[in-house]
Amino acid sequence: MTTAPTLGGSMTPQVIIQSAHGCRITDIDNNDYIDLSMGFGSNIIGHSPAVVQNAIIDQAHKGWNFGLTSDSQLKLADLIRQAGPANERILFCASGSEATAIAMRAARAYTNKDVVGVFGGAYHGVHDAALITADPEHPSKKAHVGLGIPDALDSTVEPLSYGSAEALQRIRDLKGQLAAVIVEPVQSSFPVVESEIWLKELETTCRECGVVIMLDEVMTGFRLAFGGGQSKFGLSPDMVTYGKAMAGGLPAGAVAGRAEIMKVFERSNHGSSVFAGSAFAGNPLSVAASLATLSYLHENRESFYGSLEESSADLTDPLNAYWSSSNTPLHIIRNGSMLRMMLQHRATSNRNDASSNLGPIDDAFFVHLLGRGVALHASRSIYLSAAHTREDINIIVDAMIGATEDCASDGLFRNL
Ligand code: PMP
Repeated sequence: MTTAPTLGGSMTPQVIIQSAHGCRITDIDNNDYIDLSMGFGSNIIGHSPAVVQNAIIDQAHKGWNFGLTSDSQLKLADLIRQAGPANERILFCASGSEATAIAMRAARAYTNKDVVGVFGGAYHGVHDAALITADPEHPSKKAHVGLGIPDALDSTVEPLSYGSAEALQRIRDLKGQLAAVIVEPVQSSFPVVESEIWLKELETTCRECGVVIMLDEVMTGFRLAFGGGQSKFGLSPDMVTYGKAMAGGLPAGAVAGRAEIMKVFERSNHGSSVFAGSAFAGNPLSVAASLATLSYLHENRESFYGSLEESSADLTDPLNAYWSSSNTPLHIIRNGSMLRMMLQHRATSNRNDASSNLGPIDDAFFVHLLGRGVALHASRSIYLSAAHTREDINIIVDAMIGATEDCASDGLFRNL
């Protein structure tokens, strides 16, 4: 195993990958691992599946950056429109971060208000405004994720507490300032939906208050269902952001929204509109991969999502049963095929009782698991794909139990 320190200060060793096929990744020493991250969830059909690979190769013969609208973009927009009632018009960009940055700007322009409500535990990308969030310890206070975020931007973000009635009241109180509220229907940081009713109430509250309700479906879109969280939870937001699984592993993003709001991108007579666009927005390779992925998911949606749900349950249930019966403080929480391994002493849906920082066992568990042929990302998030077979799931379950026993015999659970 070749290792290198990770960026960002974690001491978790990293494998250096040279290739990936199906659900397996191969490192530069030719070791194979079953991958549990799958490109942060973007490779939902698997690594380099023929259906996406062929589309990329075909497109590579035709060119890969036109800088102008392509016929494939029009076909892709048609498919995305079928994913939910909010998706009346679509704008392409190059990543999920671009999508949330552009969507926030559009909501500010549409409402002529500046503040965006963001929930504690949320992740919306790498731009400055997305890295001002609620302090996990004190959700009503603001915290910056990492250094370098100007304090001057703090007044443009309002931290809200996910799942709470106070958040709904805060939206009512601040309706004169709030342009939008952005929410992941299921948070990757804690993939449990405590109350589907609350999500509906959030939507209704925003609508009553003239606040744009923005669903960040970069992770959940085309993963929880073809229609993502919109269809799984019966939501009908104003704007939606996409990325990740949409493009089957290539860099891409999209902003979808109600026609009336999306008009802010049109150049008016005076040339004033919301600026959006970048050199690689809607680039032909990403659009080809997206079109192939979404066509495949749409055609196979009846069986695809049922089987992804089954694999996810087949992985989670025996492990949680084993950890519970062996009194081990580990647990996998999940919604659909979004899973996260947490350090917690009992099954809990309370995010304050659980941590994805696995404490003293963190690196050890990771290394023991690698030794058993399974790669778990440092975030401890798990995103299965259609390429994970029943046999692969059994191997993962055995490897995780083995890694738990390794950690136990090293005495690592002793003080937990
Ligand atoms: N929003 C959500 C919900 C995400 O999960 C992510 C990526 N993890 C982003 C936005 C940012 O997307 P990207 O990494 O493509 O910039």
